[in-house]
Amino acid sequence: MSRTEVAPGRATEGLPKGGVEYESIYDKLLALANNLWWSWHPEVVELYRDLDPIRWRQLDHNPIALLAEFTAERLEMRASELVLHSRINQAFRRLKEYLATANSWAVAHTGVLGGKPVAYFSAEFGMHESVPIYSGGLGVLSGDHVKSASDLSVPFIAVGLYYDQGYFKQHLDINGYQVEEYIATKVENLPMRPAVDPNGKPISVTIETRDGPLLAKVWLMHVGRVHLYLLDCDVEGNNPEDRELTSRLYGGDHRTRIRQELVLGVGGVRALHALGITPGVYHLNEGHSAFATLEVIREMMETDGLSFDEALRDVAQRTVFTTHTPVPAGHDRFDGGLIEEHLGPLRDRLGISFQQLMGLGRVEPQNEGETFCMTVLALKLSRRANAVSALHGHVSRRMWAHLWPWRVEEEIPIGHITNGVHVRSWLAWQMQQLYDRVFPVKWWLRMGEPEVWQLIQTVDPGELWEIHHTLKNLLLAFVRRRVSRQRRRRGESDESIEAARNMLDPNVLTIGFARRFATYKRADLILSDLDRFNDLLSDPERPIQIVFAGKAHPADEPGKQLIKRIANLRMDDRFASRVAFIEDYDINVCRHLVQGVDVWLNNPRRPLEASGTSGQKAVLNGGLNLSVLDGWWAEAYDGANGFAIGKGTSHVSEQVNDRRDGEDLYRVLEQEVIPLYYDRDVDGLPRLWIRRMMNSISSLAWRFSAHRMVMDYVRHSYLPAAGGLSCEMSVR
Ligand SMILES: *Cc1c(COP(=O)(O)O)cnc(C)c1O
Repeated sequence: MSRTEVAPGRATEGLPKGGVEYESIYDKLLALANNLWWSWHPEVVELYRDLDPIRWRQLDHNPIALLAEFTAERLEMRASELVLHSRINQAFRRLKEYLATANSWAVAHTGVLGGKPVAYFSAEFGMHESVPIYSGGLGVLSGDHVKSASDLSVPFIAVGLYYDQGYFKQHLDINGYQVEEYIATKVENLPMRPAVDPNGKPISVTIETRDGPLLAKVWLMHVGRVHLYLLDCDVEGNNPEDRELTSRLYGGDHRTRIRQELVLGVGGVRALHALGITPGVYHLNEGHSAFATLEVIREMMETDGLSFDEALRDVAQRTVFTTHTPVPAGHDRFDGGLIEEHLGPLRDRLGISFQQLMGLGRVEPQNEGETFCMTVLALKLSRRANAVSALHGHVSRRMWAHLWPWRVEEEIPIGHITNGVHVRSWLAWQMQQLYDRVFPVKWWLRMGEPEVWQLIQTVDPGELWEIHHTLKNLLLAFVRRRVSRQRRRRGESDESIEAARNMLDPNVLTIGFARRFATYKRADLILSDLDRFNDLLSDPERPIQIVFAGKAHPADEPGKQLIKRIANLRMDDRFASRVAFIEDYDINVCRHLVQGVDVWLNNPRRPLEASGTSGQKAVLNGGLNLSVLDGWWAEAYDGANGFAIGKGTSHVSEQVNDRRDGEDLYRVLEQEVIPLYYDRDVDGLPRLWIRRMMNSISSLAWRFSAHRMVMDYVRHSYLPAAGGLSCEMSVR
């Protein structure tokens, strides 16, 4: 039978209700592939990998694309050969159980939401490398939020955009300069299908602008129990330019941007309406989607006969806003012309003037010199706003204090809920097996409890070290494979390719640094004194090595120069075998890195890192953080669970700041990190280092999980927004 005979999506949707039978192995594997639940269950991932390990890798770990290469007969044969039947049946049964059983936490805590779900809006969702509709931290955070909401069975739906070219693929040319390539994803290889209304008719939405209508169709993707709806402007009826409106993430100019945000916000609300979904709470994850609030106001005015002010109050009560960056360029601003062109028709229906509309996006409503800021709109139209770490809360209150000039800073109504990561998505299988053995049964249902993670202290240090070494070797093999492939693609010599196959040493302290190459993240801080860097790398007794990865925004020339500088270190014999740059940082590269490094380095200019989450991923796998006391690390570091750069202060002069932090980075490496790592007992074990790994896991894993984060949102934001009781979010 061919794969088209199974309607993708219907598969999973039918599961909890029964009625649809899945007889063949092919049907079951395809049903599993059509719900991203598979991606955080390593035993299911292994099933697909076992079918064809090479193609699995080449296809970006995409199970639908993999299955498309099999006929049902060949799949049946392969499954018999490998004795996969019982594993497939078991995986399928577990997915069915997962979809059918509500998590007890949600049953006890989300009752007040009633049948009305939280609608979570985000411009990007990063759930897995095979679904490339994310660029970086914001997207991965959204993906982790959705997965935890699913695991906890919070009534929850998510709304985003479908970008058929996603974010760019990165490679470096022979000079180390970043080249961007956009590749269209094959829709048929993604776990999604057209969203349909209650009558089974595919949904589409129309958004009026002064310049004509803008159309979008809607896709449905299943992420565990959560439905993720993705709007897509590539439809007939749009002019050719608009058909490409949603093809790229963060591409184009201001006009592209506002049109994308119009589709996400206004189009997203219309899509929910067409689907027959009435959310109880709206969560705007970053300001991109803030136009949604205006559309909900319009709905309420027209259906409930409320005035604009009444509807605004009601919508604000039910809206939660999360702000994600203290970097000014990270807050979208639009001029009056663009606002009127795109919001004009909606404004007419709201019955407000152009000045009133502009006022909603201005700090000083009457100030005609001020552009329209999406963050201001979101802050004005949400009763509950939060930053993403305690320090970022402080910074955000100061940053937006002028919106509430009559209040003192501590009373600015922006709290904080610190970001966390979806544990099972980032945890190496080998570590999970260790946890399965020493933690209570079904420990993942109790992820937020410190007592569970405390048990890591009972593990034999030698065993933990051995698992870590296995993971480190897997990472080094990955780096060698990728670097040699990069060199082959650039047409480099055989010697150069061969050198890549032998670079890095598993017995050497290995540092990972991977993130967006924005200049404030200072990827080159560790290079600020090249001789000293060289001394660290080439120390005969206690050397270090370092693996870099990260993309620069296509328009960020200084970021690209940073990449070039780092990538070109390999031309210097001193660094050639000890420094690696992996191209095309994505979820897959991140997963390898955070699972295998000894040390995860993060040295942004404080306080510009709102939270950061990659270091939290390293924690779960036994990696130690070496970080500036910024973002989540400022509240996480306790002196014994990692390493700190600086003292949590910053100088007004950028230069002084950079010099001090660079100096302190070397000092901590030389005096703390390296000695601790190489201090071995008679068995060759770094006892104190392993102790620190255990401290890191037991003190941090439960606090910085996305489960804890989502629970905080439920208790402090969603329930009060829906009208239930709860404690106030901490502002301090
Ligand atoms: C986790 C993750 C991020 C966010 O981590 P930061 O610490 O904020 O850099 C970014 N990109 C990818 C691919 C990730 O997996």
